[in-house]
Amino acid sequence: MSDRYADLHIHTCFSDGSDTPEEVVRRAAQAGLSAVGITDHDTVDGVAPAMREAASAGIEVLAGVELSSDYHGKDIHILGYLFDLNDSPLVKKLREMRQVRVDRMKKMVARLAELGVRGVTFEEVAGLTRSDAVGRLHLAQILVAKKAVPSLEAAFERYLGEGAAAYFPKYLQTPFEAIRLIRESGGIAVLAHPMLTQRDELIPAFVKAGLDGLEAYYPNCSMAVANFYVGLAQKHGLLVTGGSDSHGKGKTSTYIGKAFLPGVHLEKMKALAAQRRTV
Ligand code: AMP
Ligand code: FE
Ligand code: FE
Ligand code: ZN
Repeated sequence: MSDRYADLHIHTCFSDGSDTPEEVVRRAAQAGLSAVGITDHDTVDGVAPAMREAASAGIEVLAGVELSSDYHGKDIHILGYLFDLNDSPLVKKLREMRQVRVDRMKKMVARLAELGVRGVTFEEVAGLTRSDAVGRLHLAQILVAKKAVPSLEAAFERYLGEGAAAYFPKYLQTPFEAIRLIRESGGIAVLAHPMLTQRDELIPAFVKAGLDGLEAYYPNCSMAVANFYVGLAQKHGLLVTGGSDSHGKGKTSTYIGKAFLPGVHLEKMKALAAQRRTV
């Protein structure tokens, strides 16, 4: 391949993806990618196994994570990359974030029972993830399996989407705090899928708080939209990133390599992280 491409937004079975980290790496190599970012929700447990597999697959693995945060009731996702995996403030805080997920899932299961959806246990939902990063996609999968809803979409519409009957927020932090946490752990902080979040007016404030990049390349969005965010990134002196947000079988609308980042942007990202380490 003349150019290198990276998919920097991938979930594994350590959060709400279905593929193991090893499968992610092998699929990415088969898809012709040169690099992947493992970005599970609130855990980095998938990073080391992916890195071990990467050597034989001839692919590069970037440490990553996707943090949820709250801005006045709106769910905003911040991606972190290339942070210190050993005992950094970020890695320490993830344990607390997963505990919030566990407590919240227990509340969601109890609320569903009140709503008449009985027979779902916390243990079976938690059994769908290899770590304790349990989330709504797991619960939605159980609801489909038990035929309480006809589809994952219906599960979110009826019960689990923001503001729906069994929805509980999980946030410990604002986006500003999430950005700070990533930065103080030596990482690169990126606003995930801005075209879905639709809070562009906050970007200047995020930049002041230390935001490093915008996820401009994302599946199921047009080149015009991607180019808009590339332009916005340029305007603010930010990096451009991108990825598929693959969840394996959990999300049929995307897959590894469906959206990808030209290698030149990955090099810029790594250069910034390296430059920060030397100062
Ligand atoms: P949580 O982190 O537990 O709040 O769950 C968020 C995850 O649920 C997202 O990363 C998606 O994987 C999934 N999700 C959110 N909304 C939907 C939806 N409408 N349809 C399918 N999956 C969704
Ligand atoms: Fe997810
Ligand atoms: Fe997200
Ligand atoms: Zn994601």
